[in-house]
Amino acid sequence: MTTVDTPERRQLRELTRSFVTREVLPHLSDWERAGELPRSLHETAAKVGLLGIGFPESVGGSGGDLLDSMVVTEEIIRSGGSSGLIAALFTHGIALPHIVAARDEALIERYVRPTLAGTMIGALAITEPDGGSDVAGIRTCAVRDGDHYVVNGAKTYITSGVRADFVTTAVCTDFPKSGSLSLLVIDKGTPGCTVGRRLEKLGWHCSDTAELSFVDVRVPVTNRVGPEDTGFLAIMQQFAAERLSLATQAYATAQRCVDLAVRWCRDRRTFGRPLVGRQVVRHRLAEMHSRTEAARAYVHEVAERVAAGQPVVTEVAIAKNVAVSACDFVVDAALQLHGGFGYLRDAEVERHYRDARLLGIGGGTTEIMNEIIAKGMGL
Ligand SMILES: Cc1cc2nc3c(=O)[nH]c(=O)nc-3n(C[C@H](O)[C@H](O)[C@H](O)COP(=O)(O)OP(=O)(O)OC[C@H]3O[C@@H](n4cnc5c(N)ncnc54)[C@H](O)[C@@H]3O)c2cc1C
Repeated sequence: MTTVDTPERRQLRELTRSFVTREVLPHLSDWERAGELPRSLHETAAKVGLLGIGFPESVGGSGGDLLDSMVVTEEIIRSGGSSGLIAALFTHGIALPHIVAARDEALIERYVRPTLAGTMIGALAITEPDGGSDVAGIRTCAVRDGDHYVVNGAKTYITSGVRADFVTTAVCTDFPKSGSLSLLVIDKGTPGCTVGRRLEKLGWHCSDTAELSFVDVRVPVTNRVGPEDTGFLAIMQQFAAERLSLATQAYATAQRCVDLAVRWCRDRRTFGRPLVGRQVVRHRLAEMHSRTEAARAYVHEVAERVAAGQPVVTEVAIAKNVAVSACDFVVDAALQLHGGFGYLRDAEVERHYRDARLLGIGGGTTEIMNEIIAKGMGL
């Protein structure tokens, strides 16, 4: 029994399963078509105690650690949810941790507590139209003017950016040079801060994605997260949790697709026999199962090390790539085993196939993970 499988976590699985069955599954197709989740879902998730998992009670969370958050992710996808749903409903998982780590009571009161109560939505804006992989090259600038910063620039591909009430935004604070980053919490209602575009996507349809524009946006200095010029380090420190969350979505999506494919191959008959009666099909399912199991075991091991406070930057990058690679293989194979039905909107594997493509791009691409791994190898 791993520590991901304790009595408390089994209860958490049950709670998640019943939330998904009751509150999500009857509506998910509508939300996929609408391109966003209703705000009421955040409040419902908060009321049952799911929204605050992984955040301490002292800031309005429900307690628990990274492994508990992974349990919730696993169970949402196992119950028929999706990585897009997780991205949209748990965007605070990337928008809030920097604020909590900075221990800024005023910001915690104003943004963290209401978000964990489901009454506010937050987003994290790092990526810019000129590039996302090169975080140090951020060009959105914040120039000090008395007790405010004046922010100018643009961000893109921002998850929940259309619905968000506030955006934890990475800005360059040593303009006209670049490289010294800070994080500012910017209220969406501030004059000059606008949603330029709602972006259409291959997958993650129930998760809204925005392009944001900042023109002479005045942000109080008190909305800075931590000391000036500590943004880069803060971003890097929180990447571990985001990457492991994406790795978890990857092996959980793979697991769900293995389950769907096994069920389909038992039922579907061709040439007078169920598909599962063919050795080539059984071997394909065995390969899908094996890659999923291996990915899950490795991600769990690394997550336990992260939760124990060990520095495992390289291992986190390996975990993300291994899980994404397993997921890519499995979603493709699962769709193929479903034949023509797999290509239809009615098929759940179709959604996973589209949603999964993001996992090797978001939170640092597969290539950037390989850069980190190569560095860890001393290359
Ligand atoms: C649906 C969606 C949701 C997202 N949500 C958010 C969000 O909430 N907040 C946010 O800030 N960002 C978000 N992103 C952005 C995401 O993090 C970036 O897309 C990602 O980091 C890659 O940046 P980029 O798109 O600018 O690609 P680029 O950095 O331009 O890279 C393009 C390609 O070149 C490769 N590449 C880049 N540098 C190197 C190198 N040195 N060596 C080899 N290959 C290289 C990359 O791997 C990639 O394949 C989201 C993206 C999507 C699609």
